[in-house]
Amino acid sequence: MACEGCTTELCTVRGKALPKAMLTTCQRGNAAAVDAMLQKVEQARAAVATNHPDRHPRKAVVTASRKPCQSCNGKPKSKLARTVDRIVSLKNAAVDFIQDGMAVANPEQQAKRSAICAACSLNKDGWCDDTKGGCGCNLSLKVMPRASYCPLGKWSAYRDEYRPLVNPTRSLMFHLYPLKGKEWNWHWHIEQIRKHQDKFNGKIVVGVGVDKNTATIEEVQALFDGIRVDHWLRADNNKMAETLTHVEMLSLLNTDDPNAIIFRYHTKGVTKTRDAVEQKWAEIMWDGNMDLPSVEDALASHLVCGVMRSQTPLVKKKPGDFFYAGSAYWARAKEVFERDWQWKEPNRWVVEYVPAHLFSFAESACIFHDLVPSSVLNHQYFAEHVDAEWAAWKAARGIE
Ligand code: SF4
Repeated sequence: MACEGCTTELCTVRGKALPKAMLTTCQRGNAAAVDAMLQKVEQARAAVATNHPDRHPRKAVVTASRKPCQSCNGKPKSKLARTVDRIVSLKNAAVDFIQDGMAVANPEQQAKRSAICAACSLNKDGWCDDTKGGCGCNLSLKVMPRASYCPLGKWSAYRDEYRPLVNPTRSLMFHLYPLKGKEWNWHWHIEQIRKHQDKFNGKIVVGVGVDKNTATIEEVQALFDGIRVDHWLRADNNKMAETLTHVEMLSLLNTDDPNAIIFRYHTKGVTKTRDAVEQKWAEIMWDGNMDLPSVEDALASHLVCGVMRSQTPLVKKKPGDFFYAGSAYWARAKEVFERDWQWKEPNRWVVEYVPAHLFSFAESACIFHDLVPSSVLNHQYFAEHVDAEWAAWKAARGIE
């Protein structure tokens, strides 16, 4: 989006306007104004001793994330635009830092973050490279505030509750709808389970919804040849869809093990076409959630995590609600079973509500593309706001 009166292309990620102060600076096209702003940034940097990625987890609608974007109109961002991003980031960092009581991460947490940054391809001489989708921060400062977090989800903000997982037991619960004519989708999901099955050192539970339009459970089971499945559940499909088997699958994973975690997902996109955005979305759900170091760092201080967290639920809107678009998420099992895990409502959206039903927003974390406005998940939104970030997310992990 071009800033009116300014020759510089400014990316206002997710369609949110920049704060008025930033717009004023850009509209002037005034180098002196920018210099003055930069000076303030440096002063603030010294005072707060922090730096921060672009997202602000508690104000989705207001701040909406201003991630460094490399795809504005197909062009890399200008130096000025990146400078503006850094200013906004710093402001968000200061707000987070203050709201977190100016808490500093302990030496163990800082060392862990520093080790991750040291091995990251975006680490450019101690700075997080904002020409490649990083935040442009000085990393030795960035790791210090407890509320700080990696812009690409490799390490998370920490809270008072900090309990790193020890030799975690990871289980999978997956609901499959084997719709005839859509084999390209649900066969692909089965191959994703095959590809990642070794990550699930706990149980693998598969629920299958069948009706006259689907393959039989026996036909589905045959495709799982070579995949260890501990429990199968068969259900007659109805309008409850992926919610049909949810509680029953959970019941098979009941545990009080504090190091057990559960990933739930379903055949996302099975009623769509192969070129629909849902397939791209489904791929991100799998790849994003299978980055175990990021997941386990997030769950050290949170009870649920996933990718593409939203605070704008599609169906029901309640203050404080959040969900993971696509309904793929990990949760710490013990806390799930200490809470109202058997809750049900007669609609298919229950699996979407479950994270917010069981956990507060503060107990949730996002490891990719936080605060997505769910109503704009279409190809244009992905092209403008997701694709570049996803490329950076993969590059930071050495994934092609
Ligand atoms: S992308 Fe994350 S892990 Fe990589 S250098 Fe930046 S802050 Fe560190």
